[in-house]
Amino acid sequence: YAAKSSRSGVQVYVPDPRGGTGDRLRTMEDLRTALERDDQIEVHLQPQVDLRDGAVVGAEALVRWRHPVRGLLSPAELLPAAEQAGLLRPLADAVLDLALTAAAGWWPEREVPVSVNLSAADVTDLDLPGKVAQALVRHGLPARALTLELVEDTLMNDPERGRRVLGELRRLGVRTSIDDYGTGYSSLAYLRHLPADELKLDRSLTHDLGTDRRAGAIIRHTVALAHDLGISVVAEGVEDGDTATALTDLGCDVAQGFAIARPMPVGDFRTWLSAPHGCVVDRAGS
Ligand code: C2E
Ligand code: MG
Ligand code: MG
Ligand code: MG
Repeated sequence: YAAKSSRSGVQVYVPDPRGGTGDRLRTMEDLRTALERDDQIEVHLQPQVDLRDGAVVGAEALVRWRHPVRGLLSPAELLPAAEQAGLLRPLADAVLDLALTAAAGWWPEREVPVSVNLSAADVTDLDLPGKVAQALVRHGLPARALTLELVEDTLMNDPERGRRVLGELRRLGVRTSIDDYGTGYSSLAYLRHLPADELKLDRSLTHDLGTDRRAGAIIRHTVALAHDLGISVVAEGVEDGDTATALTDLGCDVAQGFAIARPMPVGDFRTWLSAPHGCVVDRAGS
């Protein structure tokens, strides 16, 4: 229910003060039905743009549940329910399928990869690489059409196995991304052992850029290290043009955030993608 669950999306369950156990059971039952009927789970897409020229270089798929009574539910409400109900795996399968269906709609005319978030259960699932490979074939997509995002914490329980899974995914040609970097215990040394193509600076870092000089220093040095390792840097939570400009000056490659666009339903994203959009990055550069 609460922001507490946002780091991994699934590990911390904060009971909803608005509802008791009965409501929670009800929600779990509803979710089981939703996954079986396959028409209430959606992904919304949020664009990622190159900070140098504003080109669209990615789209993150963020799960939503269009609940018949409660309306559009966010991951913070949906993921804890899925975990409690033991439905994380079918949910992850559904999200992967929805994200690849979306990407197949614009690929190969637009070679924009779609990003999917992984939970701890996904990262340590030895069947994941095979499942992903099959899904790509089913949708007629090359591996580089998919980026998989994970938070470092998700590897903590079984780092060995997680690295194996990630290594196999990268050998397939799937891109990997470290999400929410700069929160919790993320450390630079970690990058030595974690194969990744991309690092996403957490929005708590980008958000404080204007007021906290240390945030700028941390970003600058993280970018330098990432680039030395051949890793590109995406800034999350970019909410205004000034921040985009500052991030460009600090060497960040890509921006994602409300300043560019909010997450939107797949149809709206297709329209957004095909329309010329004067985004904040263009203004930042001029
Ligand atoms: P995340 O992967 O870090 O995703 C970014 C979150 O920040 C999204 O929230 C997005 O709507 C929000 N956001 C984007 N731009 C801005 C901005 O400029 N300002 C602010 N304040 N927020 C911004 P959302 O969709 O509620 O997702 C929350 C988290 O839930 C995600 O964080 C991710 O960890 C998890 N999640 C989302 N979809 C999935 C999924 O399909 N599977 C799994 N396992 N986790 C998911
Ligand atoms: Mg993410
Ligand atoms: Mg996400
Ligand atoms: Mg993030």
